[in-house]
Amino acid sequence: NAGLGSWPGRRAAMSPGHTALIFGERRTTYAELHERSARLATALRTAGIQPGDRVAYLGPNHPSFVETMFATWMLGAIFVPLNFRLTPPEIEYQLRHSGTALLVHAIPVDAPVRTRIALSDLDAFRAAEPIADEAETGLDDVACILYTSGTTGHPKGAMLTHGNLIWNCYNLLVCVDVASDEITLVSAPLFHVAALNQCLLPTFLKGGTSVIMPGWDVDGCFDAIAGHRITWMFGVSQMFAGLSQSPRWATADLTSVRCLMTGGAPVPEALIRAYQERGLAFCQGYGMTETAPGATFLEARESRAHIGSAGLPVFFTDVRVARPDLTPADPGEPGEVLVRGPNVTPGYWNDPAATAAALTDGWFRSGDLAIVDEAGHYRIIDRTKDMYISGGENVYPAEVEAAIFEHPAVAEAAVVGVPDEKWGEVGRAFVVPAPGSSLSPGDVPAFLAGRLARYKIPVYVDVVDDLPRTGSNKVRKGPLRTRPLPGPA
Ligand code: AMP
Ligand code: MG
Repeated sequence: NAGLGSWPGRRAAMSPGHTALIFGERRTTYAELHERSARLATALRTAGIQPGDRVAYLGPNHPSFVETMFATWMLGAIFVPLNFRLTPPEIEYQLRHSGTALLVHAIPVDAPVRTRIALSDLDAFRAAEPIADEAETGLDDVACILYTSGTTGHPKGAMLTHGNLIWNCYNLLVCVDVASDEITLVSAPLFHVAALNQCLLPTFLKGGTSVIMPGWDVDGCFDAIAGHRITWMFGVSQMFAGLSQSPRWATADLTSVRCLMTGGAPVPEALIRAYQERGLAFCQGYGMTETAPGATFLEARESRAHIGSAGLPVFFTDVRVARPDLTPADPGEPGEVLVRGPNVTPGYWNDPAATAAALTDGWFRSGDLAIVDEAGHYRIIDRTKDMYISGGENVYPAEVEAAIFEHPAVAEAAVVGVPDEKWGEVGRAFVVPAPGSSLSPGDVPAFLAGRLARYKIPVYVDVVDDLPRTGSNKVRKGPLRTRPLPGPA
């Protein structure tokens, strides 16, 4: 049984008494985690879950996320972790699109599913008997579907197989000395592949301990580092900036920390320096949901010498900067990053068109522009896709524009990302009112509240007479990105 459903049993055999998870006061050993997951698997099967069915989880980080995930895998079913910051219509879309049969939810939601179980009822739902006959799962079977927003306005469900997840763990373990005595802080949301597969699952594989935080909070993080002697943590650079700007930074005991890992965006030089002064260096990753997620990696000892670099391709994976015809670019020549290897998605759930557009001869087209220097180091310079990243979350302007268009007084809308000190980037919307309608900037965020997750709602809104357009009538976003900012809407 090659699949991840076998991991709790294998770990329970190797290190039964070792702590797998810490959540607040609650500690779960590998033996307990195996038993709790296996009892949940029995209950899921009694509720009708079969191999290949979809089981979703909606809620902040919690041990039940981990147990539901392993229980799902023990049945050969597919796990769908949902972003709890999304609004009810956004969540409903993903449940319908994935055809989810059963949902475990920590927050109330109207869900089009056959069975739903509130987190508070999960212990009562769990069966008395652990499952005795786990499903045989192969490396090519789909383990999870992770929704990522897309340029079309609707999110796409990236499928990751058991093999994809496992090979990313191997890639990571080649770069980072994760140990069996690791105490890993899991503070980023587990519905993101980085927290799940660059943090929790590699720690699990080695038999280390994951300290699960329900959400990000600077003081909680300092408390966890000191209280549990955290050795390893992953975060986006906004989280690390939050720590170094806190009044507790100067006196915090960080001596237990061996490795800080970040990804999703380049780390600003000032942040590298602030941590360097405390004797801490970042390792940095570049990757994406579809590559489970690691594609390139910059080891900590290289971080000072290669500021702004995303590092080198990970061990078992081919990465190429390519020309539009997909042949390799020369060193220094910008091109699109392509990724091929055992960690790369087989495609998007129920979306052959998006799959065909993203994969050519096994190469995944990242939509990111990069250059490779003579030493083979990758530098991400731009995105060919029209996307910006706010507080670590991707925002696709097409999706925000589609929501703004639903406002009856809006004739045209264009959204761009603009730099922001706190969030990295935030949205700025340019809207043209419909003839005869009046529209004020504040109307737009008010209208979007409840329709779009908060991080997607533009912070700046400009009501304008027209939008700059190309000869073929496409909105020219370049000039919009550089217009001086108004006050926040
Ligand atoms: P996601 O699919 O949500 O994981 O987002 C992946 C995207 O984040 C990539 O396609 C890049 O545009 C961006 N990204 C990830 N890591 C980095 C990095 N180290 N530097 C710059 N951009 C990054
Ligand atoms: Mg993506």
